[in-house]
Amino acid sequence: MARITTSTGRRATQTRTGAESTKVLPADVRHLHRTLLLTHLYKSDPKSRADLARATGLTRVTVSDVVTDLLDRSLVREVGTRPGTRVGKPATLVTVDYESHAIVCLDLSRETEFRGAVTTLSGDIIHREALTLDEHKGDDALAKVITLAKKLITSTTSPVVGLGVGTPGIVSAEGVVRNAPNLGWRDLNLAEVLHRELGVPAYVANDADTAVLAESTFGAGDATGLMLVQIGHGVGAGILCDSHLLRGPEGTAGEIGHVRISDDNVPCSCGRTGCLEAYLAAPKLRARIEGCAPDQVARELTTAGQQLGRIIAPVTQALGIFDVALLGPEDLLTQEFLTATQEAVHATTSHFMDRDVVIRLSALGHDGVIHGAAAHVLAGELGLS
Ligand SMILES: [Zn+2]
Repeated sequence: MARITTSTGRRATQTRTGAESTKVLPADVRHLHRTLLLTHLYKSDPKSRADLARATGLTRVTVSDVVTDLLDRSLVREVGTRPGTRVGKPATLVTVDYESHAIVCLDLSRETEFRGAVTTLSGDIIHREALTLDEHKGDDALAKVITLAKKLITSTTSPVVGLGVGTPGIVSAEGVVRNAPNLGWRDLNLAEVLHRELGVPAYVANDADTAVLAESTFGAGDATGLMLVQIGHGVGAGILCDSHLLRGPEGTAGEIGHVRISDDNVPCSCGRTGCLEAYLAAPKLRARIEGCAPDQVARELTTAGQQLGRIIAPVTQALGIFDVALLGPEDLLTQEFLTATQEAVHATTSHFMDRDVVIRLSALGHDGVIHGAAAHVLAGELGLS
């Protein structure tokens, strides 16, 4: 799994800023122990308290105390005893109680609608909602986000651990959307607004950063070096390098959509012209192929793949990344598009240690941002990352 080097949630940020002292308090120790045990139990076979003591190095008394605490919080549950135990009292096994709590996730990356889902603690989607965007921007778009989140929260009877949001644009580590021209948001403290309106911890991150985390947590990505290119309302990339999410000093790492690829005066949402996003954002790409015959569509998508490949090739080479996943509408990310991107990358990069950069579709399909939003909440609230 990848590590998030900065917290993206309101509560986590507050905790961090309030903990300048290096003194470790008992509550912090308990929290660390809870996180340690949950990490060992998450997505693994049920374990006994003795198993957990051996695996974590904690004493059996401490493990018993922490397991009792986790049972009280309904974060773990007992699932009987291990079969085949012959001597002494059989050890009771515990596992994460995945169904006990819900996570609410929003994907704001789509061109025509906001999508949302309720997931279990394992990231499984149990309920979906969507609201059409109707080209709303600014406060109107924000009102839609709040409406969608409220619908999702009221749809579940389980306690909600937190709300995760993947949005286009540049987002600070504190969940402030600094600039999202496609949604008309500038310096919008989305995490704060959602926390205030909904009363649950809110985690807001860039959509591509969110999706790349999902690809490594729930999908098939190489977490030590993975670039996920998101083609939706805009174009951006989330990058994991040496298992860390790259943010950059201003949180703009992966903003490949605004690299200029042409001297043509095609306007971009950022106010400049000729940006990659002006040609490859889903609405722009769809407009390029609208009304074309099938062979023309294939040619246009091949050209688009080449345009993308030329931009991502130097990034993969500079960072030493070999695994590139594309996430976007299935009707646009065709085999022609994928092949052209792959060939453009191969044409401009070298292979190292017999390894070439591989361009593939995201293993999570169109739910990548939703799953990533869940991963952010799990990391921020339960320390699972
Ligand atoms: Zn631009």
